[in-house]
Amino acid sequence: LHEKEDHLKALNKVNASLEEKYAASYTLSLIQQYIHHELYESKLLTKITDIVQGVLGSAFTAIFGLAADQSLKALAYSGVKDFTPLLQIIKTPEWLPYKALKEQSLLGWESATPADIQLLQQYDINSILCIPLYTKEVKIGVLIVSHFQENVFKNDQRELLQIIGNQLSLALENIKLHQATEDMAWHDQLTGLYNRTYFNNYLETIKAESIKKQEPLSFNSLVFDIDHFKQVNDVRGHLVGDDVLKTVASILQKNTDENSVAIRYGGEEFLILSRNTDLYLLKEVAERIRRQIAALEFTDKEGRTFSITISGGIASIPKHAKTTEEVLQKADEALYQAKEGGRNRIIVYNNLD
Ligand code: GH3
Ligand code: MG
Ligand code: MG
Repeated sequence: LHEKEDHLKALNKVNASLEEKYAASYTLSLIQQYIHHELYESKLLTKITDIVQGVLGSAFTAIFGLAADQSLKALAYSGVKDFTPLLQIIKTPEWLPYKALKEQSLLGWESATPADIQLLQQYDINSILCIPLYTKEVKIGVLIVSHFQENVFKNDQRELLQIIGNQLSLALENIKLHQATEDMAWHDQLTGLYNRTYFNNYLETIKAESIKKQEPLSFNSLVFDIDHFKQVNDVRGHLVGDDVLKTVASILQKNTDENSVAIRYGGEEFLILSRNTDLYLLKEVAERIRRQIAALEFTDKEGRTFSITISGGIASIPKHAKTTEEVLQKADEALYQAKEGGRNRIIVYNNLD
C-alpha cells in the first residue's frame, strides 16, 4: 500500500509539472500570436504585460524602453494596484533594471541592493525579476515582473521569462525597423512633410473610421500653390527654389495641430487636411499662413532679396462635397479662382455661403 501511495504521489508530481509546462507553452504561443499580429508597439506591449501578469499572478509587470538619453522609460504596465510612483523611482540609474541591461543578464532579488529592497518592500513587493531586452546590436529595454510573496521566481519561471524576453526583443526590433521604413515611405525627402503615399493612406483611414463609427465624413481640405514659382527657379536657380519650398513647408507645419496634417502634394503644391469643422476658423488659419509666407524675406546666391506669395483654395465635406475626391476637386477649383483673381489670396469654395 505504501509503495502504491508513493507511486501515486510521484505521478501527481509529474502531472503537476506537466500542467505547468503546458501552461508555460500556452503562454508562449499566446505571446507569439500577438507578436505576429500587432505591429503597433503600445498595443502589443500592454497585451504582453497583461499576459505575463495573468500567468504569474504578479504584483506588477512592466516593460521599460531604453531612450536615446540612456534612461529607461515605462512603455507598458499591468498591475494589481497602481504602482506608478514606484515605476517613477525605478528610472533612477542605480537601480536593478539598469544593472540587468548593462550586464545583459536576468537579475532577481538576490542581486538587489539594500536600497532596492527597502524601496520594493515599501510597496509590499518581495520578489522581483529584471529581464534585459536586447539584440546582438542594440540594448532595447527591460521587462520587470514582481510579486508580493518571497522566492516566487524559480528556475521554471526564469526560463519562461527568458524566452519571453528573447521574443519581445526581436519583436521590438522589428517594430522599430518597420516604423523607420514606414516613416521613410510616408515623408517627402526635401521638406520632411507627409507625402502623397501618406495622404492616400490617411484618406482611407478616415473613410474607414467614419464607416466604423457610423458617423458621416466631416473633413476640410486646404490646397496651396506657390505663385509664379517657376520664375523663382528660372531667376534664382533650383537650389534657392528648394530652400523656398523647405521654408514654406515649415510654415505649413507650424500651422497644423492634432486635428490636421500638412502634406506636400506635388512640386510646389501643398495640402492641409483638417478635421476641424469650423470653416471660418480654417479660413483664418489659411490667411495666417498666406500672410506669414508673404512676409518672408529670402536671399539668393547673389545676395539679392526677394519675397514670394501663395494662393489657396478651401472646400469642405459635407458642405461642398460628399467624397474625399470631390472635396479635393472643389478646393482645386477655389485655388484656380484665387489664381485668376490675382494670386496671394485664399478663396473658399462658394464664398463661405
Ligand atoms: P502659378 O502662380 O500659376 O502657380 O505659377 P507657377 O510658376 O508656380 O506654376 P508652374 O506649375 O508652371 O510651376 C511650378 C514650378 O515648380 C515648376 C517646377 O520647376 C517647380 N518645381 C516643382 N518641384 C520642384 C522642386 O522640388 N524644387 C524646385 N526648385 N522646383 C520645383
Ligand atoms: Mg502648381
Ligand atoms: Mg505655382
